[in-house]
Amino acid sequence: MSAPKKLFIKTYGCQMNVYDSERMAEALGEKGYVEAKTADDADMILLNTCHIREKAAEKIYSELGRFKGLKAAKPDLKIGVAGCVAQAEGQEIMRRQPMVDLVVGPQSYHRLPEMETKIRQGEKALDTDFPEEDKFEKLKSRPKAKRGPTAFLTVQEGCDKFCAFCVVPYTRGAEVSRPADRILTEARDLVERGVREITLLGQNVNAYHGAGENGDLTLAQLIWQLDKVDGLERIRFTTSHPNDMMDDLIEAHGTCTKLMPYLHLPVQSGSDKILKRMNRSHTAESYLRVVEKIRAARPDILLSGDFIVGFPEETEADFQATLDLIEEVNYGTAYSFKYSTRPGTPAAERPQVDDAEASERLQRLQALLSRQQREIQESMVGREVGVLLEKPGRLPGQMVGKSDYLHSVHVSDCNREVGDLARVRIMASSTNSLAGELIR
Ligand code: SAM
Ligand code: SF4
Repeated sequence: MSAPKKLFIKTYGCQMNVYDSERMAEALGEKGYVEAKTADDADMILLNTCHIREKAAEKIYSELGRFKGLKAAKPDLKIGVAGCVAQAEGQEIMRRQPMVDLVVGPQSYHRLPEMETKIRQGEKALDTDFPEEDKFEKLKSRPKAKRGPTAFLTVQEGCDKFCAFCVVPYTRGAEVSRPADRILTEARDLVERGVREITLLGQNVNAYHGAGENGDLTLAQLIWQLDKVDGLERIRFTTSHPNDMMDDLIEAHGTCTKLMPYLHLPVQSGSDKILKRMNRSHTAESYLRVVEKIRAARPDILLSGDFIVGFPEETEADFQATLDLIEEVNYGTAYSFKYSTRPGTPAAERPQVDDAEASERLQRLQALLSRQQREIQESMVGREVGVLLEKPGRLPGQMVGKSDYLHSVHVSDCNREVGDLARVRIMASSTNSLAGELIR
């Protein structure tokens, strides 16, 4: 019997890409591929790319350049580019890097096995369609091998919101929700394989409206169905748009015990002028009202956000409004970015903020967010939290997991198994994690 072929996937960007990489590995598993730990060891290398910020494509080209030596030493090595850069650049990738054998957009992963056959015959394969058929339907059901206790599950893809800075509607296409029964089957399969926590994914996950038995389901209704899956202990979802934060979902945060007290709710800016120019269709005030309702339903919820600083025409006063909003919300964690021009998006054509000014604002914003993150982490000391144990720690007897609030927790003297949900008392807080002890 010939040795299995080895596949190395390097994943960039969001959690959705992490999920997609898993599914691509599974699709190629059908063709006899097993995981390679490094690119050097692989028979096929796939870069699963992200196009959200500038220079992403350039980084991919230089990464590909680094594989030239490998390809020269191993002519049978196949190289592929997947994800949003593949979607946006298409044929251009093969023109600039002729050693690339395969380019596949995010909606065509189910066609990878056929594409692999083609490239093994020495041809090139390019597919950046938005096909009619559902890729999730075409991808085989997931393998049964045991796996770690946490998993991502994509329930919704694409976006119809067209924020003025964002490429997602162009690279991922229109908003589509998966039918509820497929999601439930996939969730049960994951639980059988050892998964205890599922994070539901979508670019606008709370706009979910997938078909159920009696009409379309909201995200909250889907969560309540998942709540009934025995063995599934925790449910999370990301990323949410403030305008789609419906009352039933807010309420579920107060009543569904499997739904974790953590919500990623990007706002981007605290200035109504900038929000309007971003085409965000919400105001700072309407965002704050949503936050207020969520806190009324679940007072201890930890909030996370996304911020863009230096958006075209952002003044110091607009920036100050963002700082004010952050002060008011008090975020447990956050992602913040300097505005990055994306060709083809409306904001790319507008007068840009001076780069040094934008960098300076980003620093001030991050200092404030770090302070809030530190204070919220410190406020956990002395509290009892649930921790899903994910792996052994570096110290003898120690295990590491995530708290209900998604903090990393190192649990000392922990004679439990990976996948156990432990009750832990938090004893100390350091920069990016907490330390705790089992409550026996
Ligand atoms: N759908 C989510 C939402 O509306 O909040 C987020 C999707 S996007 C993949 C993740 C984050 O990347 C955005 O929330 C935004 O903060 C950031 N982002 C997107 N385009 C950007 C750009 N051109 N420059 C800087 N940051 C950007
Ligand atoms: Fe991009 Fe999110 Fe806006 Fe959609 S809602 S365009 S994914 S930032």
